[in-house]
Amino acid sequence: MFTLRVAVMWTVNDFPAYAMVSGWSTKGYMACPVCKEDVTSGWHAGKVCYLGHRRWLPWDHEWREKDKEFDGNTERRLRPREWSSDEIVEQLNRLDFAPFRKTVNRTRPSTHMNWTHKPMFFELPYWSKLKLRHNLDVMHVEKNVFDTLVGTILDIEGKTKDTIKARLDLERMGIRRGLWMNRDSDKFPDGYASNIARCVNVDGGKFTGLKSHDCHVFMQRLLPVGIRHLLPEDVVKPIMLLSRFFSQLTAKTLRKTDILQLRHDIVQVLCKFEMIFPPAFFTSMMHVMVHLPEEELLAGPVNYSWMYPIERLLGELKKSVRNRAKPEGSIIEAWVQYESLTFCGINHATVSFFPSFQKFPQPSSLSPPPPLPPIPVDLDRARDVGGTPELPRPHLRASRHHIAVLHRIGSAVRLLPSATNSDG
Ligand SMILES: [Zn+2]
Repeated sequence: MFTLRVAVMWTVNDFPAYAMVSGWSTKGYMACPVCKEDVTSGWHAGKVCYLGHRRWLPWDHEWREKDKEFDGNTERRLRPREWSSDEIVEQLNRLDFAPFRKTVNRTRPSTHMNWTHKPMFFELPYWSKLKLRHNLDVMHVEKNVFDTLVGTILDIEGKTKDTIKARLDLERMGIRRGLWMNRDSDKFPDGYASNIARCVNVDGGKFTGLKSHDCHVFMQRLLPVGIRHLLPEDVVKPIMLLSRFFSQLTAKTLRKTDILQLRHDIVQVLCKFEMIFPPAFFTSMMHVMVHLPEEELLAGPVNYSWMYPIERLLGELKKSVRNRAKPEGSIIEAWVQYESLTFCGINHATVSFFPSFQKFPQPSSLSPPPPLPPIPVDLDRARDVGGTPELPRPHLRASRHHIAVLHRIGSAVRLLPSATNSDG
């Protein structure tokens, strides 16, 4: 016997769940949970947008002086400051939050900024000292950025950010006069949308319903090739740089110098986008890209802090649901089968009722077990799992074997003195 000790290093979750686990709402004018109250946001084309990425440029960068190319102002501010752990704890302790489940109809006071509650994680003694508590999920960020970018350059209805409202917004801000609405004809001049749309069968659903991994491949492999000769060069360059950014960010091995270069590149990309696309283009997902290299410096390669493995596991579990009225029961039943078969496959190579499980590698530290007689399987006592009697024949046989293993698991453990002794 021993005492198992566990430490929560960080949480991995999508952006809406980020608000729940961190206590900082990811909506509204202070949606960025890293910049907090210092994020640059504004109301454009009927929603909150997050601009001002020139703040991450060097102090003497020439783009800071340009106003017409950006939002109409020069940029004199430094990048948003980081909050120390003591500041966060002190602020959370000072704020008066409503009791649990009583916040539905209560307006949040302005002193609370975007804090909604004090997360339970802060009861862990080390939690406030962590540099990185919650990961921005690169998988969802990449998908949302891809959707926004492709929706705008292909002018897909419902996804494009180049709308009449966005053009009126440009006019209100007094920037990029060439893209303003033509009052006489009620049409707007060609802007960000390109003629790629003619090359793609949008009606055939070719660009709708893409899964996260489809976007991942498109973003990193196909997009830079596809747009190379179809869009103006000043639009192609930052998009290709963005594609390379995600490609390098999601690499399995990274050098620190590479990440520092990525941190520089993403600021350049966002600033160039600010010169090209309307303010409505800059959703919160666009903004949080600027923080991804910093998080990777703290957490290491992104493979350990994004949602792909979790989503795949959840997908596998969902497939095991047979009775939709009680999905948890189905999942638990399937998981017990998986665990017991894996146990037998690893520790008892001579089991003859399911030969394919012998492919599991044997632990090298254990001496090979002595040959044992095969476990007899009583197929008459075994019954099907779940309520799908019309399973194809091979599947049905497999189900009977599964349940036979469960019935015999006690015998299997008794037959394995070497394995159980070594564990104990
Ligand atoms: Zn931010």
